[in-house]
Amino acid sequence: MGPIGFIGLGIMGKPMARNLLKAGYRLVVYDVAPGPVEELTGAGAEAGQSSSDTASRAEMVVTMLPDGPDVEKAVLGPGGVLEGARPGAVVVDMSSISPTVSQKVAAACAEKGIEFLDAPVSGGEPKAVDGTLAIMVGGKPEVFEKALPVLQKMGSSVTLTGPAGAGNVTKLANQIMVACNIAAMGEALVLATRAGLDPEVVFNAVKGGLAGSTVLNAKAPLVIARNFKPGFRIRLHQKDLRNALLAAESMKVSLPVTSLVQQMLMALMNEGKGDLDHSAIVTFIEQMAGVEIKKRE
Ligand code: NAD
Repeated sequence: MGPIGFIGLGIMGKPMARNLLKAGYRLVVYDVAPGPVEELTGAGAEAGQSSSDTASRAEMVVTMLPDGPDVEKAVLGPGGVLEGARPGAVVVDMSSISPTVSQKVAAACAEKGIEFLDAPVSGGEPKAVDGTLAIMVGGKPEVFEKALPVLQKMGSSVTLTGPAGAGNVTKLANQIMVACNIAAMGEALVLATRAGLDPEVVFNAVKGGLAGSTVLNAKAPLVIARNFKPGFRIRLHQKDLRNALLAAESMKVSLPVTSLVQQMLMALMNEGKGDLDHSAIVTFIEQMAGVEIKKRE
């Protein structure tokens, strides 16, 4: 595999790019923010000057950007990946975006003889650092096989879920389950705390039973410690649920619980909590009860 371009070096992109460097790949990196580019060039990557410059120097281009409009700008826009990419190159968008935008970008790539996979991830910053993300991929099987060795350096589970857009449909399903889980955890621990119980004791009592989950294990200790440093930002999860509801509407599917939690996320953003970790969904429920989930004094 020739050099890999990596565009978008935020909470997730930076450690994912580091894992590719560690695996011995040559990397050309680009971000609109200069700080993370400098960090990665310090670790052995080359700096791209723009998305198109990065693509022109790479056989595969990975993008890890906030949302669909950012991917459209970085791939399809002026100075974007498609201006520079070599025919036969593979663009792997690992951002969580609307499946419709993935399909639009895939079609624009195909017109230029460029292959495309949507490959969003789950697992958050810790798994991005460890290289153990769950990666859900949409695209052609032969392109998936080509990209697989690279994706396996960033994730421990890499699954082809269907054609272009399928990765992001799977990711929306994932995001629904995570957000609703956090909201349910918030209601449960508010109730227990109001009843005078220590939420840590309650967490330890239930985590081995049917209510136990990866979400509970990851987030309950942080909530009890009142640590809402992101992780995964409220504003990004609000974006994911908005994309899920838009997709659901286009298919005439009703998602009542998702829609309720999306409203909570919107309210939290209006309160200035958009950059807190999504575990701060619990603060919406806490406010309604006048209770804070923390260790009993
Ligand atoms: P982030 O906001 O930390 O990083 C995004 C990076 O993209 C920033 O460094 C920004 O400067 C850069 N950027 C934005 N527009 C650009 C452009 N046009 N060209 C070049 N660089 C540009 O976000 P993140 O947490 O790393 O998330 C990235 C994606 O991964 C999102 O779609 C998110 O939903 C998804 N995701 C995040 C997590 C998580 O826990 N943080 C987990 C799973 C999936």
